[in-house]
Amino acid sequence: MCDEEVVIIGAGICGLATALALHKKGIKSIIMERSESLRNNTGAAIGIRPNGWRALDQLGVADILRHTAILLQRERVVSLDGGRQQKISLNHCVGETRCLRRKDLIDTLYAALPPATVKFGCQLESIKLDPQTNNPILRFIDGTSIITKVVIGCDGGKSIVADFLNLKPIKMFPRYAIRGLTNYPHGHPFGHEFTRFRKDDMLLGRIPIDNNLIYWFFSQPNIPKDEGIWKNNEVIRQYTIEWLSNCPQEIQEMAKNADINSLSFTDLRYRAPWDLLIGNFSRGTVTVAGDAMHIMGPFLGQGGSAALEDAVVLARNMATTGLNHREIGEAFNEFVRERRMRVVRLSLQVYLIGMLLDSSRLKKTLWIILLKLLFPNQESHMDYDCGGL
Ligand SMILES: Cc1cc2nc3c(=O)[nH]c(=O)nc-3n(C[C@H](O)[C@H](O)[C@H](O)COP(=O)(O)OP(=O)(O)OC[C@H]3O[C@@H](n4cnc5c(N)ncnc54)[C@H](O)[C@@H]3O)c2cc1C
Repeated sequence: MCDEEVVIIGAGICGLATALALHKKGIKSIIMERSESLRNNTGAAIGIRPNGWRALDQLGVADILRHTAILLQRERVVSLDGGRQQKISLNHCVGETRCLRRKDLIDTLYAALPPATVKFGCQLESIKLDPQTNNPILRFIDGTSIITKVVIGCDGGKSIVADFLNLKPIKMFPRYAIRGLTNYPHGHPFGHEFTRFRKDDMLLGRIPIDNNLIYWFFSQPNIPKDEGIWKNNEVIRQYTIEWLSNCPQEIQEMAKNADINSLSFTDLRYRAPWDLLIGNFSRGTVTVAGDAMHIMGPFLGQGGSAALEDAVVLARNMATTGLNHREIGEAFNEFVRERRMRVVRLSLQVYLIGMLLDSSRLKKTLWIILLKLLFPNQESHMDYDCGGL
């Protein structure tokens, strides 16, 4: 007998969205999350492109979230080395770009779920299959176990479910990112513009969330290796101020006035595009979605939106087939088939951009040629439509 029918591991963006998508299709699920409470205070904010909004529309939460963030009207790339600028108008015929506080996204998805969908303080340790029934047996670090019919691993980049599926280890880009929020009590002067700055090998992004709040991210290689120091937000702030000291005054001010509690430091991990092309992302009634399947660098700002797409496609397939053992296996095969080339293309584009940032001049030329050949329209990843629930 199964304790639970459908178990999702992890209450991040993907796990919550998947539970909500299943709920909208009349399928009950339970989420097992290792944290003691909702993880709604990490990562500051997240840019959502038109493809992400299509998925949020399907999940029925887009209109709530639209009220929390302004519509961005243009994008500008500025080289701080030579002063070159490139302006990109955000084409609203194909959809919208907004930057959401992660807290708003996580809280809204959570609030749309039936009560008690998430069980906190449940850290998955291992999975094995019952030799008689082939049902997954989940073992948690507190020593408890449950038998379930279906497992969906939304447990992020260091996924236990991905290990069970024997997926190849994830890799690291040779650079790091710092993210934060800065509040301008009297309004910021940056309009509705997403601005990206480049200086040597440093990248800085600045995105307004509303008329007062700015989300910014900063990335560069060769950061002090001592992992421990990055747990201290004051250290993050001091390093950021130092690294940005040659930037225009408005950027330095933004770093100095950042909300200390919003700061975070993270390494940049990815699943190699070629591993996505050949990996087995399901085994029987176990599969993975979100970062557990396709963690990618942040250079296109698409990892979270791809996780929302996964949720819609997964629930649609599960609702179409049914919930017996064979049917779930079919639904997962179809889910993987639908998603594979989408995430291979996204990850490949992100990979090439990441490589371009940290290569010698000769290799840079190679990455630029590959990018131009394989992605003649560099914005087309936003046109993707995951379809109806
Ligand atoms: C610097 C940076 C900037 C980014 N910017 C953007 C952006 O602008 N737009 C965008 O779309 N994406 C962006 N992304 C990517 C985006 O943040 C991720 O793709 C997204 O958060 C993935 O969500 P997830 O739910 O799959 O994984 P996670 O958010 O990692 O959630 C996994 C959850 O599983 C839980 N968990 C883990 N292991 C276990 C276990 N063993 N047992 C139980 N629970 C477990 C964790 O506690 C967590 O709650 C960015 C990423 C980075 C690093």
